[in-house]
Amino acid sequence: MTDSKTEDVREALIVPPGQPFQLASRNPDAKPLFRDKDGAEESCKEDAKAIDRLQDELYAEGRRALLVVLQGIDTAGKSGTIKSVFAETGPMGVSVTAFGKPSEAELARDYLWRINAALPAKGTIGIFDRSHYEDVLVVRVRELAPREDIERRYAQINEFERRLVENGVVILKFMLHISFEEQGKRLRARLEDPCKRWKFNPADLDDRARWDQYQAAYDIALERCSTPHAPWYVVPSDSKTRRNALIARIVRRTLEDMAPEPPDPGFKLEDYPIR
Ligand code: ADP
Repeated sequence: MTDSKTEDVREALIVPPGQPFQLASRNPDAKPLFRDKDGAEESCKEDAKAIDRLQDELYAEGRRALLVVLQGIDTAGKSGTIKSVFAETGPMGVSVTAFGKPSEAELARDYLWRINAALPAKGTIGIFDRSHYEDVLVVRVRELAPREDIERRYAQINEFERRLVENGVVILKFMLHISFEEQGKRLRARLEDPCKRWKFNPADLDDRARWDQYQAAYDIALERCSTPHAPWYVVPSDSKTRRNALIARIVRRTLEDMAPEPPDPGFKLEDYPIR
């Protein structure tokens, strides 16, 4: 990233904990932040390599994990982000879990049960494509649980995340922010392009019709659940290349701040001459 304004993009994209927040105050267009598209592509590739190196170190250290939560409205680009940002990460070092409609077994437990089961092992990076936040987003918009239960969940989620952080899981939460117009374009492209048609789901149009309700549900979730221990970042995502570059940069910086260190081997090199 050449533009000095974007040197540490965390500051620009974070949802400040404990303050009123509205998505409408954030621009889904990343160009003012990051003008050069080719530069963005380069920057993402470089950061993806650095993420791989840092994950190796995290594994060698074996004490902590990184959890990356991706949320966004349909077509916001959760899977495209995963492909690019973790393109260089060794498959043994990452786990990806997509959370769709809960199964019968999942519905028979509390909503954090399936989340717990998918948490990353020490030394690895866990990626959530959707997450426990669906339980205060789609569940709120579609009234799938009593309102008073949903209201209690924000504090429960904050507590749950605190427990993880206290046990060595660093948490990054990204909301992939796109405009209504951009979603329209992407949905049309899915229908028109035979290679993308399989991605089209008529149910996406029902959610699109509830755009304002989803934005309002995001406002509440981001305001209540951006905490000092697990902050939310709103990533302008109308441009896929810039979105990837911004997220890759934040993941890289976070791993660098974690500064994983392999443990002391506890032996002297001269004790093991290899002939
Ligand atoms: P995607 O749209 O992410 O590519 P799917 O087509 O499998 O993946 O959609 C997942 C669907 O599951 C979404 O509509 C989402 O709202 C829904 N979903 C996820 N978590 C829950 C939940 N806890 N309760 C109800 N629906 C959920």
